Amino acid sequence: MPSSNLTAADLFGCTRCGDCCRGFGGTYVSREDIAAIAEFLGDDLSDLMSRCCRPSGERYLLAQRADGYCIFWDQTCTIHPVKPRMCRRWPFIESVVADAFNWKIMAALCPGMRKDVSLDQVRDCVRRILATEAPNP
Ligand code: SF4
Ligand code: SF4
Repeated sequence: MPSSNLTAADLFGCTRCGDCCRGFGGTYVSREDIAAIAEFLGDDLSDLMSRCCRPSGERYLLAQRADGYCIFWDQTCTIHPVKPRMCRRWPFIESVVADAFNWKIMAALCPGMRKDVSLDQVRDCVRRILATEAPNP
């Protein structure tokens, strides 16, 4: 299939296995992400940050439980309507455009990602998806 015809659904279909909600260095959250989660949960912003976020350099990560899962994982994402941009965009993220080999690394961990498409096609498709900011399927 020509790369111009590939869609997000051609490259990815989430199996809801939850593997990406565990480990992998954690989930970065922006201030907008944190504010949306606080509003969704009816929490005070600073309470939510101290309870559910951990600093990582200049940024924040969602806290993880002792078993390595994200604090918001409970057989499914409990904040799905407001999950952080990094979760919403996966696997159509900037680092794949920067180096398409990252798709291969990510696909080894995520069963929903196609592994039989050329990396040039993947990069073109991800670049197009990011330019339109289309939601994940
Ligand atoms: S690892 Fe991939 S397939 Fe599994 S829940 Fe995460 S995005 Fe979906
Ligand atoms: S916010 Fe939801 S989708 Fe994102 S890592 Fe946590 S449980 Fe998974």
